[in-house]
Amino acid sequence: MPKYVYGFTEGNKDLKDLLGGKGANLAEMTNIGLPVPPGFTITTEACRHYLGHGGMPEGLEEEIGDHLAALEARMGKRLGQADDPLLVSVRSGAKFSMPGMMETVLNIGLNDDSVLGLAKQAGNDRFAWDTYRRLIQMFGKTVLDIDGELFEDAMDELKGERDDTDLDAADLQRLVETFKGIVRERTGRDFPADPREQMDLAVRAVFDSWNAPRAILYRRQERIPADLGTAVNVVAMVFGNMGPDSGTGVAFTRDPGSGRQGVYGDYLRNAQGEDVVAGIRNTVPLQELETINPEAYRRLLDIMATLERHYRDLCDIEFTIERGKLWMLQTRVGKRTAEAAFCIATQLVDEGLIDMDEAVTRVTGDQLAQLMFPRFAATAGNHRLTTGMNASPGAAAGRAVFSSERAVELAGRGEAVILVRRETNPDDLAGMIAAHGVLTSRGGKTSHAAVVARGMGKTCVCGAEELEVDPHAHRFTAPGGVVVDEGDVISIDGGTGAVYLGEVPVTASPVAEYFEGEPAGDELVRAVDRIMTHADSVRRLAVRANADTPEDAARARRYGAAGIGLCRTEHMFLGERRRLVEDLILATTPEERQAALDALEPLQTGDFTGIFEAMRGLPVTIRLIDPPLHEFLPDLTDLAVKVALADDRADDRADDRANGRAGGGADDRDRRLLDAVKRLHEQNPMLGLRGVRLGLTVPGLFAMQVRAIAAAARRVEGARAEIMIPLVGAVQELEIVKEEAERILAEAGVEAAIGTMIEVPRAALTAGQIAEAAEFFSFGTNDLTQMTWGFSRDDVESAFFGTYLDLGVFGVSPFESVDREGVGRLMRIAVEEGRRTRPDLKLGICGEHGGDPDSVHFCHEIGLDYVSCSPFRIPVARLEAGRAALTCTRSDTR
Ligand code: PEP
Ligand code: MG
Repeated sequence: MPKYVYGFTEGNKDLKDLLGGKGANLAEMTNIGLPVPPGFTITTEACRHYLGHGGMPEGLEEEIGDHLAALEARMGKRLGQADDPLLVSVRSGAKFSMPGMMETVLNIGLNDDSVLGLAKQAGNDRFAWDTYRRLIQMFGKTVLDIDGELFEDAMDELKGERDDTDLDAADLQRLVETFKGIVRERTGRDFPADPREQMDLAVRAVFDSWNAPRAILYRRQERIPADLGTAVNVVAMVFGNMGPDSGTGVAFTRDPGSGRQGVYGDYLRNAQGEDVVAGIRNTVPLQELETINPEAYRRLLDIMATLERHYRDLCDIEFTIERGKLWMLQTRVGKRTAEAAFCIATQLVDEGLIDMDEAVTRVTGDQLAQLMFPRFAATAGNHRLTTGMNASPGAAAGRAVFSSERAVELAGRGEAVILVRRETNPDDLAGMIAAHGVLTSRGGKTSHAAVVARGMGKTCVCGAEELEVDPHAHRFTAPGGVVVDEGDVISIDGGTGAVYLGEVPVTASPVAEYFEGEPAGDELVRAVDRIMTHADSVRRLAVRANADTPEDAARARRYGAAGIGLCRTEHMFLGERRRLVEDLILATTPEERQAALDALEPLQTGDFTGIFEAMRGLPVTIRLIDPPLHEFLPDLTDLAVKVALADDRADDRADDRANGRAGGGADDRDRRLLDAVKRLHEQNPMLGLRGVRLGLTVPGLFAMQVRAIAAAARRVEGARAEIMIPLVGAVQELEIVKEEAERILAEAGVEAAIGTMIEVPRAALTAGQIAEAAEFFSFGTNDLTQMTWGFSRDDVESAFFGTYLDLGVFGVSPFESVDREGVGRLMRIAVEEGRRTRPDLKLGICGEHGGDPDSVHFCHEIGLDYVSCSPFRIPVARLEAGRAALTCTRSDTR
């Protein structure tokens, strides 16, 4: 039978899969001798069993009983013991941190008897009754599903104008009775007095909270798999609400916004952890603890230094001080902004804690992409309303909205919005996702808004205390009486914390400028430079660009592209040239067709010349025309209407004609075009006459493109052309095109590799044969995904992928990240069989996935030679290719 429960002395930080992040780190801290209250962890495996089977696994109750008995023995008191109760917290903790998304219940073990024992032991009646009311309140809300506002309202009514700390023991005792009444009224039963029953119900509630709507939403957003489950930590309670010499706080070992070393955190006196999150009273900066309790403060700084050395990274922590004694309740490698991630990684290298290899693995392509976001241009001259805390970087402008629902609604209509709240809580998640930025008037850098926004890479200014936010009236008032109503545009600067009225124009980020060729200037850019240089030195995958203009090619080169992996030629047939394509389609004789092709050829030669020049010395893969020809013709309905109207007018003017004047009517070209559109119309154009099929059925089309490539290559010294045939499904198709192309190249005296895209499942499955003719493969994973899943790439994402993601059919769209089991399997087959036929077959990817971090790792794993992506994604792909080389276990087929 599996072991479902681990004491803190049995686990360690590497067991996150089983013990969740919190459990694993509590164990780790216990083992390195830090002051952690004793406890045990119920595994994620138990949770998975519970969720899957609708009940606890066999043996779990006894195992919990054994660990509880051990905990009681260690503490010298029993759970809920009447004269001296052991109390425990029951805390959620999944493998990946999901801040505030799941449940926690504190103070388990109190009832009408043990509350008296607690009062006696603590010598503090007020504390005991406060603790008891907290239990009923939290338990009622999270375990018994009672609307939390009922408890809050009852408490507010009792408080009147007073602060919560002004309530005395008698007040709180009365509140306990009121709360018990709420429980009775709402659930039809009494608040459970049996401590073990309290604990068991709380454990189930934590398991259930894995599937709470906000947890599901958060997982989708953060791409956390839906089937991991949460662990549950049962921990002996220590009390931050025992009086003024007690308290609770959160801290970071470095600034999570910039990476700078220092003391960053918040402290709340005489309170339990949930008070900080609930924002009941304002926290004080952690530095003030030095005055409040110098000894605990020094101990805390020591522990923070120990944690940084031990984890070799920024840690965030939660702690409680009970009557002057410091206890560690949680630590984890802390979330940080993208800027801080790069700076901290190189700082740790300079401090000798990690090496450059590790520094590269400490940052991600997504973080790099965030740093390339634009920022506000000069802000002088704009009306600055106030400055709050710079909680999460970037620049965002949009309409102010004051509720999560409104944010979702307006964003759904395509509006940019800034969500403005006093503070956010987990129920605001949907609004935060929808908004361009988040602004709060309360809370520090560790507030919910700050932590969640940083995790999402969303601009956030928090704690802008000068703003009076009135969510009911949908407005805020800034200093000087300026009122911003819902719908007014504001701009927020997550780098400086400034809040502006109106829209402030944005400018490029220094990191983007560095990639454009500016020298590395400030600490951040120097950190990016060092990490990119190292990533480049370790990566095996080359990174190419999808580019089809000389401008894009030049940018791609500046961003570090090693060539072009996909030059789509179809856009070259649009605009003014569309008429020439129409001529080609309308041609009825070989001569007419040739004339149309002859007109297009010099234009194509010019296109390729520009691109070869921009990429001089580097390979350029040019894909011959791919889309169905009718895409170049006018729309069927438009044209039919045009012709019909013209004919109507012509009828009206029949008299004129009879009198010998021109009668008009649709011109001959329109009529022939309409015929052509009808003739070429396809029910399923993506599965129709496109790609190589077009090349084989429209004589001279591919030949014209190959001649243009050859002519351009002759013009540009250092041109390295590669010719790529799209949509091949059978080697025979490729052979026919290849024979003609080789003849043209030979006549021109130009050398160019000829290869194919692999974007039809049959091509992947017959890759061994196709490699007989192809000198390279490039995986067109857009089409390969479309055809493997049978998903129309143009329709399904907006149509039903939301539902599919909700249902857990997949965790991320297969058009975004390569579906390893399906599409990926076809790719592996093609790689293996292709290389078996032709060991030096060059392999790349040019679908959108080429710039997706997970997919880059997959491409490394299966042994591709390069990935190709849009110019702006090139730095991301370079970095991820470096990270893949350092972290992937690779099954290179060579
Ligand atoms: C592909 O199918 O992945 C591809 C790169 O081609 P396109 O997107 O042009 O169809
Ligand atoms: Mg394609």
